[in-house]
Amino acid sequence: LNTQKAEFVRSAAGAKDFPRDLLPQIAFAGRSNVGKSSVINRLLNRKNFARVGAAPGKTTHINYFRIDEKIYLVDLPGYGYAKVSQTEKARWAGLIQSWFDDRSLMTLGVLIVDARHKPTGDDKIMSDYFKGTGRPFAVVANKLDKLKKSEIEPNLALIRETLELPDDVKVIPFSAEKGTGREELLGLILDHMGG
Ligand code: GDP
Repeated sequence: LNTQKAEFVRSAAGAKDFPRDLLPQIAFAGRSNVGKSSVINRLLNRKNFARVGAAPGKTTHINYFRIDEKIYLVDLPGYGYAKVSQTEKARWAGLIQSWFDDRSLMTLGVLIVDARHKPTGDDKIMSDYFKGTGRPFAVVANKLDKLKKSEIEPNLALIRETLELPDDVKVIPFSAEKGTGREELLGLILDHMGG
């Protein structure tokens, strides 16, 4: 997969905008500020492809990127930002619901959580959404560079436990900043490109 060949496709506000060709779709979800854009940029080894630090709460769209004309990266809008209005929250929920209702669209789900903390209630809800699709998914524990070495194992275990992950769901230690975990995540994506 030539990750240098990445293009923005579209920003979808509803089901009518979802691409429906047969390219595999790898979906990324995570709390606002968890580093979702940074993880995508690191994966593509680009600096400012997915926008880092985009204003939280202004993200009730699903952004589609096409990589090497072979797969879509689906950037689901971030959640859990406290200052978002009820109206925004309802729009977010409706959009996410309609995307997951169309579960055939997803080839692989990637839930990004913060390696430093116990996953939030919203993380659990999102993890359950992914689990409910019956499709493969993985958890990326980002910001690993902020942990002491001794904290890594217990934190990864806490993430697995809190999200009640089945054994076949990987938790990938990741640092968008340092590049840790990039090969593992890319490998997982390549494994699922067949559909
Ligand atoms: P998003 O809202 O989930 O897309 O998050 P961003 O990608 O915009 O990142 C939010 C903040 O976290 C930014 O200040 C990033 O520089 C920082 N960040 C993202 N990933 C990492 C990481 O792996 N390590 C550290 N130390 N900071 C990170």
